Amino acid sequence: KPVLRLAGVERRYVQGERTLDVLRGAELEIRAGEIVALIAPSGAGKSTLLQLAGLLERPDGGEVFLSGRAAGKLDDAERTAIRRLEIGFVYQFHHLLPEFTALENVMLPQMIRGLDGKTASERAKELLSYMKLGERVGHRPSELSGGEQQRVAIARAVANAPRLLLADEPTGNLDPKTAHYVFDALSALVRASGLAALIATHNMDLAERMDRRITLEEGKVVEM
Ligand code: ADP
Ligand code: ADP
Repeated sequence: KPVLRLAGVERRYVQGERTLDVLRGAELEIRAGEIVALIAPSGAGKSTLLQLAGLLERPDGGEVFLSGRAAGKLDDAERTAIRRLEIGFVYQFHHLLPEFTALENVMLPQMIRGLDGKTASERAKELLSYMKLGERVGHRPSELSGGEQQRVAIARAVANAPRLLLADEPTGNLDPKTAHYVFDALSALVRASGLAALIATHNMDLAERMDRRITLEEGKVVEM
């Protein structure tokens, strides 16, 4: 079973008098262990696709399946639970909490889920070491470089051992060398944990190193 499946997904936005059909029957399957690059021009619908896959939005037609479950049949509480436990999000800007240390930022999603502090702290340390941040666990985001902040954000995204990682330009504000380093850390973590990952990027060098590349054309997913 694919971790993520989109079947005939439609999404339209009403903009005043006009209706914009952003997705018109999008089909997509991503399996465990697969890293898929999403490359498309601005306005093509990348964020819309990620928000539907992340259960942040509901489609106007078709269905989103997570590990075989039809998301449309779930109520909001069930969708929130799936977002917390099964989906990790990484953004272009890290959204780390500034008053908390790297360790605390990675512990937080686990505490929200109800794990005790000791378990959460051990897991957070393990993930931060894996991201080569073992020496930085006590630093606040402002004391870390851009690449380090992004690696903390990646550790936080996988803290609850999700099945699916969704990333929107995760290396978009980093210089090319740092972007490569952060991507290598991300893909090592994805491979080690058997996650499925969908990563929107404009960086073709990085896209070339993913397992598959997809784009959006006239509201449909097209393999590149
Ligand atoms: P991308 O991430 O590829 O830049 P988006 O998914 O953000 O594309 O947006 C696709 C199109 O849908 C754009 O033309 C955008 O203006 C429009 N759009 C996105 N969200 C909304 C919204 N909430 N209301 C109206 N139009 C929207
Ligand atoms: P919480 O009370 O834990 O924030 P939410 O349902 O708001 O519960 O969020 C669950 C997960 O979905 C969180 O991990 C959060 O990062 C992510 N999330 C919520 N809203 C958004 C959003 N608008 N964009 C991206 N991710 C979001």
